[in-house]
Amino acid sequence: MKDPVCGEEVTQSPYKVTYKGKTYLFCSPMCMAEFKKRPENYVK
Ligand SMILES: [Zn+2]
Repeated sequence: MKDPVCGEEVTQSPYKVTYKGKTYLFCSPMCMAEFKKRPENYVK
């Protein structure tokens, strides 16, 4: 799946967030932290 913050393709990652019932994967802790700050910016 795509990292919703930077758009990079991520297949395996220890950085995951479940938001509104969906799990999102991130390429890095920075992207995950950014998503957690403003998830509504990255989820349509
Ligand atoms: Zn990323």
